[in-house]
This record gives sequence, C-alpha cells and structure tokens, in this order.
Amino acid sequence: MKKRFTILGCGSSLGSPWITNYKGDLEMNSKNQRTRCCAHIQKGNLSVLIDTSPDIKYQFLKNKITKLDSIIYTHEHADQTAGIFEMRPFYWKNKSKIPIYGSNRTIKALKKSYKFCFIEKHGYKPIMQANIVKKNFLIKKGKFKLYIKAFDVDHGLIKATGYVIEKIGYISDCNNVPLKNLKYLKNLNYLILDCLKIDKHPSHFNLDSALNLIDLTKPKKAILTNLHTDLDYFKLKDKLPKNVIPAYDGLSFSF
Ligand SMILES: [Zn+2]
Repeated sequence: MKKRFTILGCGSSLGSPWITNYKGDLEMNSKNQRTRCCAHIQKGNLSVLIDTSPDIKYQFLKNKITKLDSIIYTHEHADQTAGIFEMRPFYWKNKSKIPIYGSNRTIKALKKSYKFCFIEKHGYKPIMQANIVKKNFLIKKGKFKLYIKAFDVDHGLIKATGYVIEKIGYISDCNNVPLKNLKYLKNLNYLILDCLKIDKHPSHFNLDSALNLIDLTKPKKAILTNLHTDLDYFKLKDKLPKNVIPAYDGLSFSF
C-alpha cells in the first residue's frame, strides 16, 4: 500500500523569494526556493492535505496530486489558509462537501473569513463540511484509515494545533509545546518542526529552540520547516546533527 508524506511547502509566511524578489541571504536554487508551509499525506486511496497555503494550486500541480478527500488545518493564519478557494474543483470532483478538520478556534476563524465555503452565497453552494477535532480522530476512506492525534501548541498570541499521524509529528507554527502535550511527541519516526530563523522570534521556534525540542523528544528523524530567508538549505544542513535535516519543497518519504 502506498503511504507517502510530502512537504509541499516549507517557506515562511512570504516564501522565498518574496513577491518583490527579496531573498535575503539566500542564493536561489531548488532547495532555497520555498513556497508556503503545507503538507500532503497519501495512504492507499486516501488523500489528505494539511493546510491550504496561498501556493496550493502550484503545489498540487507540481506534485501531481489530482485527488483530495479531507483537509486538516493547523491554525487560521493566512499563510496556512489563503488557498482555500482553490479547493472548489475537489467539491465538484467528489460530488460532496470536503470535510475539513481543525480546533474550535481555527474552525470559527475559517467560517468567519471564508464564509462562502460554508454557507451558500450569491447562488454558489458551500464546498466544505467543518469538523472540530477531538484529541484523537480518524479520517477514513473505505479500508484506508488515518488515526490522528491533535493537541494545542503555543504560536505567539494564539494556539495552533500540532498533529501526530502514524508516528509523524507535524508542527509547522509554534514557539512552545506545553509540557502536558510533550507526551504526544514521544517515539516518533519523524518530527516536522517549525524553525523560522536563527534569531529568536515571539511566535516561532528559532534554530536553538527547535533543536532543544528535538533533543528532548528524540524522534528518529527531524525535519525543519517554515524556514525564513536567513536559513540557506546547504549551510543549515552542514551544521545540523545527523538525524536533523532542513526541509525543501517536495521532500517526501514513505511511512
Ligand atoms: Zn501562523
């Protein structure tokens, strides 16, 4: 059975380069050219997306993803949600509303910002069915099932949601994992973790704090994501411990 996790985008909120062609210290190559954070999971026939970045259409086309069953949201910020409008063809294709999953606050914020996805407007039908996640939930399609754990993480002034899916942890936006939720990060095969930049930041892990959490939770492999323009892929890779790598757009692994 095909079981594949793909990092569709690993850039910070404006990607690299920015729309102005600003690229900070980065040399432009395939590893440093980054779209906004989101990820895709394929398990057999089941196709699940984590977040709808503003780059989602390009990310789907580039990774040849033509089917989608469900979407999991980490939080409501625009760099994780602004591509929501692009999901309409999957509503047409599936002939049913796309189930989306998120915390109470995320779902509330999505319903407010993207009302047209949930309530008929100007004669256009709603395309999504919202589900508030519990600690443990299941997404399934026929015999293919994903068991998912959801927990709160601190992301500056808001709470974002961290997910563990089949021993893969995904925490793209976070500056602290509350002590009581560290238990979810034990015995992971992969931890995909926010590492915005070298300097400290109020809403994101920086390199030191990301490495501290990795040291504490000891996943078999850690992948740093949400990378800003001060983090060059090759320079960063050289200074990381053996079990930690920087993400790049399109990085994928079987699980
Ligand atoms: Zn955010």
